[in-house]
Amino acid sequence: MVEKSPPRRKHTAGVSSLAERVLELLASGQATTRTEIAHLLGAAPSTISFTVSQLLDHGLVAEEGTVSSAGGRPRKVLRLGGSDGFAVAAELGGQHAHVGVVLPGGGLTDVSTVPFPTADGPEAALPGLAEKLETFAAEHGRSLLRGVGLSLPGPVDVASGVVTLPAAIENDANCMAVGEHTVQPVDRRQSIMVKTGTAIGAGVIADGRLYRGGTGAAGEITHVRVEAAHDIPCSCGNTGCLETVASGAALVRILRERGLHVARTEDVVRLASDADPEATRAVRQAGRYLGQVLAANVNFFNPDAVYLGGILSTLEPFVAAVRSQLYEGCHPLVTEHLVIERASLGADAGLVGAGQFALQRALAHALHTVTGNHHP
Ligand SMILES: [Zn+2]
Repeated sequence: MVEKSPPRRKHTAGVSSLAERVLELLASGQATTRTEIAHLLGAAPSTISFTVSQLLDHGLVAEEGTVSSAGGRPRKVLRLGGSDGFAVAAELGGQHAHVGVVLPGGGLTDVSTVPFPTADGPEAALPGLAEKLETFAAEHGRSLLRGVGLSLPGPVDVASGVVTLPAAIENDANCMAVGEHTVQPVDRRQSIMVKTGTAIGAGVIADGRLYRGGTGAAGEITHVRVEAAHDIPCSCGNTGCLETVASGAALVRILRERGLHVARTEDVVRLASDADPEATRAVRQAGRYLGQVLAANVNFFNPDAVYLGGILSTLEPFVAAVRSQLYEGCHPLVTEHLVIERASLGADAGLVGAGQFALQRALAHALHTVTGNHHP
């Protein structure tokens, strides 16, 4: 079965965007009652009551107890509905896929690894994965399954994405950005997640949402040219890109040139973890290059947080080099409250994010059902 993901639809102003804002306020914990929602959105209480009643009817919002209000009658506490649902998610690599069950709010269970031999073609790789996801659905209750989320390495054309499973698909860096954002404090509304593995990628969260850019390529810092890379050829066809001096693949090349026996990024990480001086030096230098490119982006974007994910982020000298370049290269106003840290979800960030995309897609679909009745 081949399914094309639907073209993204702009919500028309009116009921649909209001319902969306109400769900956002409940999801982020900024509001828990109709009164608070009306106040925050500057809307008439009757309008909010009407929108909330629609969302209640469709199970997108639920009532949960009451809170007393000063001088008034108790107010009903609202929460997101459907929070007993789940998504199944897979993060696809070259030989393996990480799979798991993702819950609203970022919970993750049943994490495991299945073979995914991409070199043998999708016909060979997909059945094993599909079977595993089917098992999850059966074990956790098919009626509660909200969707399937897939994280793919490299850029994904979301508008015309084609996949052989009905699924929400995103590139790995975007999945990691959304996964980590989901579990971080709600006041971190702007963040950059950098995936530092064999390749480099970044995902951007702006005002609490994934920012894709005009053609879906936002965050492609890997092809920023850096002076030190001179004319080293890059996978993109250009020369001198950040990827050619700061990625895991670049570190393998650099250390091999220096006579070390490394074949994969994992070998570099193992050497650096064992405090091999040559590997540690190279890793620190890679962190500096990444930090320099990031500094320009952090100055421009002024995020609340920069999260580092991917296997190189497990190396302290790498993280320290990125951090010091950011402090050196950014304006103090930008770094004053800037959080720079390893992704708290570690290797699970992408899986959680892929699941969140599936859950969000299900929510958007349900929302359309709510508002579609009134705005045909
Ligand atoms: Zn390039």
